[in-house]
Order: sequence, then structure tokens, then C-alpha cells
Amino acid sequence: MSKIHMFSKTFILLWVLLMMTRYFPFGIVFLVAGKILEMDDLSSMGKKLGFYVITVVMGLILHGLFILPTMYFFITKKSPVVYIRGILQALLISLATSSSSATLPITFKCLLENNHIDRRIIRFVLPVGATINMDGTALYEAVAAIFIAQVNNYDLDFGQIVTISITATAASIGAAGIPQAGLVTMVIVLTSVGLPTDDITLIIAVDWALDRFRTMVNVMGDALATGIMAHICRNDFVKEGEEIPLICETKPMISIQHTRSFQDNGYPEPPAPGSRKPDRLFPDMARVKQLEEGISHPPLRHHKRARTDHDHCVIDMTGLETNV
Ligand code: ASP
Repeated sequence: MSKIHMFSKTFILLWVLLMMTRYFPFGIVFLVAGKILEMDDLSSMGKKLGFYVITVVMGLILHGLFILPTMYFFITKKSPVVYIRGILQALLISLATSSSSATLPITFKCLLENNHIDRRIIRFVLPVGATINMDGTALYEAVAAIFIAQVNNYDLDFGQIVTISITATAASIGAAGIPQAGLVTMVIVLTSVGLPTDDITLIIAVDWALDRFRTMVNVMGDALATGIMAHICRNDFVKEGEEIPLICETKPMISIQHTRSFQDNGYPEPPAPGSRKPDRLFPDMARVKQLEEGISHPPLRHHKRARTDHDHCVIDMTGLETNV
């Protein structure tokens, strides 16, 4: 009975969410239309909005193409052009999706395969960066707040501009890595200096485009920060090749039939009736078995390869003690 009750509740919730997302675009259209009808001079407002878009895009270009690469160059003494070329695919995906979270796997792949950053550094820095490091969003929120102040003929003093900068940075940290999340956290910035929050509707119409560019800068900032961290920690990590691969990281090298057969008879393939048992295992099978057993040596009674043949580390477990 309670299961049916829960099911119906979930169903109603999903239905309400579906209806909301369906009507959302209409709501936006009416919000923007209401704002346009309130305007006395539509063309001057359009001009101001155009200048606002140009200012945001110029700021993003300056930050993404000059400030961030220069910082990378001065800290690592390596070419930022080569580094950025390696993450081009991630930048294009961020432009297409407007989401740094959705781009995260591609950024990971680009940094690992093209820029050869240590996997352990990427694993830590990139998710943290994608969640809290949003340079593009911070820049956009500050410009948008100043634009809304100017549209309302509100004179901002130096203290208020500093407040906007600080709250825009804090709001960008709180913004999720999803499309137009910055628009929501903008409310914090506007309220911090007493600007009307309903004027956000002024910039909704152009936000879908600006969101793509600021997401690109967000992703670039995360990737360059990972490169800088990799440079700073280069002596603290052993090279990737020296790492012992984990079972879960190895590609499937053997089929499930081979594994089953190995578990049943100790050989990768069931011996044909009447035939002699093979005297050695598949090398891949032997390696997986070694890893499962804690990299002990020699691996298996039938594995007759020379010690020097192995392409992995060998850990001698003898003498090790564990106190739990
Ligand atoms: N779309 C941005 C991102 O995913 C967040 C935002 O500024 O709205 O990084």
C-alpha cells in the first residue's frame, strides 16, 4: 500500500516538473515582453543592451586569451598556445552545451591524452575547479550588475563597485556548472547594492549567447589551473608509468568465457577432451591474476615467463604486517 502511495507521489511530482519545464519558455517570453512594454525608448535600450553584450564579450576575450594564458606562461614557463590547443575539443563542447559540468569528462580526456597531465592531479583539481572556479561567470555578473545600475540611473560609488566585485566572485563560486546558473546567483549581487532584482529580465534575452562564452572561459580557467598545479607538484608525484595499474583501470583484456574457464580449471580455455593441458597462461590473464593477488611473484604455477618479462611493479608482501 505504502509502495503504491510512494509511486503515485513520485508520478505527481514528475508530472508537475514536466508541466513546469514545458511552460517555462512561455513564462520567459511574457517576462521579457512585459519589460519591453515598460520601456519608453526601445531603440536606446537596444543600444545599451548591445554595448552590454560587447563589454561582456570583450572582457571574456581579454581574460581568456590574455590574462589566463599569461599567468600560465609566467608560472610554468611553458607555451600556453600548445596547452590551449590540447583542450580545444573541451572548449568547443563547453560552447555547445553551456555547461562546465557536462564538459568535465571531455576536459579530463583532453588534459590526460593531449596535455599529458598526471591523472591524480586532474582527478582532484578539475572537479573542484568545475564546481567553484568560474572566472567567466564572476566577470559577467559584475558587468551585468553595473549595467542594471546604469539602466536605472543609479550612481555607484567606489565602495559599491568593490562590493559588486566581491559578491560577484562569491556568487560565481555558488553557481552550478549548468546553463544559465549565473543568472540565478546574480540576485545576490544585485541585492548586495540595493538594485532591483526584477531587472534581471532585461538581460535574459541575450543571456543564452553570453552563457556559452563565459562557460568557455570557466572551462579554460579550470584546465589552465590544472596545468599550473601539475607544474607546481611535478616533483611530488612519481611518473604515471611507474604507477601500479588498478584492476578497475585496466581495459578488458580477456573475455568472460576465459575468466570463467580460468576460475574452473586454472586455464584460460577448457582443455579439449583427451588433450594435454597448456603449460602457460595468456600473458594478460597472468597479469590480471597477479594484480588480483596483490602483485605477488611468481604469479602462477603454470606461468613460466622470465622475471624480466614483466611490465609491472612487483611488491614483495613477505614480512609486511597489518594491525587492524
Ligand atoms: N553555464 C555556466 C557554467 O556551466 C555557469 C553560468 O555562468 O551560468 O560554467
